[in-house]
Amino acid sequence: MDLYEYQARDLLEEQGIETPKAIFVRNIQDVAQAAETIGFPVVIKAQVKIGHRGQAGGVKIAHNRDEAVQAAQQILPMTIHGHKVRGVLVAEAKNILHEYYVSISVDRTSRDFDVLATANGGTEVEEIAREHPESVKRLHISALDDFDLDAAMEMARSIGFYHADEAQAAQILLRMWECFKHNDATLVEINPLAKVGDPDDEASKHLCALDAKISLDGNAAFRHDGWAQFDDADEADPYERRAQEHGLHYVHLNGQVGVIGNGAGLVMSSLDAVSFAGQEQGTGVQPANFLDIGGGASAQTMCASLEIVLSDPQVHAVLINVYGGITSCEQVALGILEAIDELNVTKPLVVRFDGNAATEGLRILAQAQRPNIHVEQTMELAAAEAARLAADGGEETK
Ligand code: GDP
Ligand code: MN
Repeated sequence: MDLYEYQARDLLEEQGIETPKAIFVRNIQDVAQAAETIGFPVVIKAQVKIGHRGQAGGVKIAHNRDEAVQAAQQILPMTIHGHKVRGVLVAEAKNILHEYYVSISVDRTSRDFDVLATANGGTEVEEIAREHPESVKRLHISALDDFDLDAAMEMARSIGFYHADEAQAAQILLRMWECFKHNDATLVEINPLAKVGDPDDEASKHLCALDAKISLDGNAAFRHDGWAQFDDADEADPYERRAQEHGLHYVHLNGQVGVIGNGAGLVMSSLDAVSFAGQEQGTGVQPANFLDIGGGASAQTMCASLEIVLSDPQVHAVLINVYGGITSCEQVALGILEAIDELNVTKPLVVRFDGNAATEGLRILAQAQRPNIHVEQTMELAAAEAARLAADGGEETK
């Protein structure tokens, strides 16, 4: 789960990393007041879960009330790289003397943690990294050893922090690591980690986190009260929300064929098979969703899955592709019938069973004699049938 900048900043501050004073506002009416509270000049920053806001015009400096309101008026209606702006952060503008980049992330290959850093931070960090790869340092924090102040000092030096910044940079690295661990993050990034202050006043110069990007590990939500404080009600897809409440892995895709299966790989293949069938048949029918009922799914799980998939009005037919392992096809069959009765399902359901209790499952479905259940022997045949039925608008012709 990705956080907005205004949320990520709070997590850095909790660990004692300095960020500029700032107020998050959702509406234009609140901008002037916020800017006056912070004091001019301010930076008005689009709150979206995507980077490169600056280059897209989503970060503007304002020197007075009118400029602040005008900047917010321009930024609030924006959609940046497909992400609708959810509000603006009104932040104290800092005088930037230098921009560093530092991030900590999970490294799945080496099964530890990566610290990526460069003394050439800021908006051009990717270009600079491409042209001068030697300027980007990649260091590791071992998953088993901890990371202490000595190691952080060593790291700050090797990253290329200016000598005057090393001690403070080491503190910040250590605090980023605390923030990373404490919040079960997969990414903590500060860009720019800026040296700010008055160029003529040595004592005023120090490092400040001007932008923050944090991603949290969704699998750890149970250790953090479900991260309720980061709940993004206006962003989440309503189908995905309900699926989450049932502990189902669902992704909404906007096509016409609902797809339910067990195991991510099997469901992905089913999506491909449906897309392929839609193309072959010349209808352009597409899958409506990804839904993995997981291993050992019960009849209730199947019933809840069908309810969510069928609540999407675009869905005209559903492909149920189950390879019984821990999951018993018999349970899945019972769930299908339960859903048909409870929800009064009339749309066609195309079923392909194999593996554990497939014969029993198919017998249960045959005995039930529901006109909208279609059984096929293979995934390809089932996908083709579901695509055909969906293209027909889901009307039963048999
Ligand atoms: P991003 O483009 O989404 O990464 O947004 P940032 O928050 O990193 O802002 C982009 C750029 O705007 C930064 O690299 C800075 O150069 C500039 N910027 C952001 N905050 C300030 C500030 O307080 N003062 C000044 N002078 N520039 C800022
Ligand atoms: Mn940035």
